[in-house]
Amino acid sequence: MEIYQRIFEYAPDAMLVLGRDGLLRLVNAHAETLFGYDRSELLGQTVELLVPARFTAQHAAHRARFMEEAQSRQMGRQQDLYALRKDGSEFPVDIMLSPMIMGGEHLTLCVVRDITERKAAQDALEHQTNELLRLHAELELLANHDGLTGLYNWRAFYEHAGQLLTTAHRRHEKASLLILDLDHFKQINDRFGHAEGDRVLQAAAAALKASARQNDIVARHGGEEFVIAGFGLSEAESLVAAERLRAAVASIENLACRVTTSVGVATFVPDPSSRHEPPTLLADLLDRADQALYHAKRSGRNRICHFDQLGEDIAPASDSP
Ligand code: GH3
Ligand code: MG
Ligand code: MG
Repeated sequence: MEIYQRIFEYAPDAMLVLGRDGLLRLVNAHAETLFGYDRSELLGQTVELLVPARFTAQHAAHRARFMEEAQSRQMGRQQDLYALRKDGSEFPVDIMLSPMIMGGEHLTLCVVRDITERKAAQDALEHQTNELLRLHAELELLANHDGLTGLYNWRAFYEHAGQLLTTAHRRHEKASLLILDLDHFKQINDRFGHAEGDRVLQAAAAALKASARQNDIVARHGGEEFVIAGFGLSEAESLVAAERLRAAVASIENLACRVTTSVGVATFVPDPSSRHEPPTLLADLLDRADQALYHAKRSGRNRICHFDQLGEDIAPASDSP
């Protein structure tokens, strides 16, 4: 056997030679093994015999175009190519095509490699990568959100409210913090059970989220306490917002009992003479809002107090019983 014939015959990939008509002119030993046919069953047959039925029409068109353009195509470029064995089973392949002229006839050399294992490894890797991305997103959600209410947790609040105050300081804008604490919440747990208490917390969270402005940062501070940061809110505007939030909680329906909240408010007012943001800006503002909340509680609950009003009598809400 001539050396080149030997190389073709014993090449470690399946090799097929087709004419312009798409009929198989030569096949090597590896092609017989790979496709499960005897050479005599392949020679003279159309190459579409080796292509799954759903691809044959498309394949014939591609083949015709290739014959026109007659340029070689490397392996691994095209994705998701499949071949068909005699027993009807399919397998993923890489295909390399190379035009050639033999005895004046235009032929195509076609090298086919079974990539079942490589594809399985790629698919497994892709699956693992997607799973990791999903878990990462889930972890991030868990790390920043409160499991019961879906609101930001305290950690995320600190981060976002800190940024909000930094921006307010830089742009010489006002900003306000509101701390809301549900009134006599322990009694709700005691009277109706912890599960009903949880339902109240979820309903309160939803009411606050729905009543806050889109860009306000709404978080669960822990227990039955919520905190909201609003950019650009002046003292007067923060009181309007606080009243809207208080009323939203007071008007929640379908709970075992009515629930009210007290609200403490503090406003950041930019100081034109201070160029650098005080390091304890957020902590100081939270502390002030907390003092205001304490005053609202002591004044009878279900009411609002701004830090600037400390020492004053706080009027009860108009819808108080
Ligand atoms: P005040 O009007 O002074 O705020 O009274 P309060 O009863 O609301 O406040 P207190 O701090 O005495 O009680 C808060 C209760 O909130 C106690 C705690 O068991 C309950 N609590 C904290 N976290 C949760 C929770 O996730 N689910 C439920 N159901 N209850 C919670
Ligand atoms: Mg509390
Ligand atoms: Mg409370």
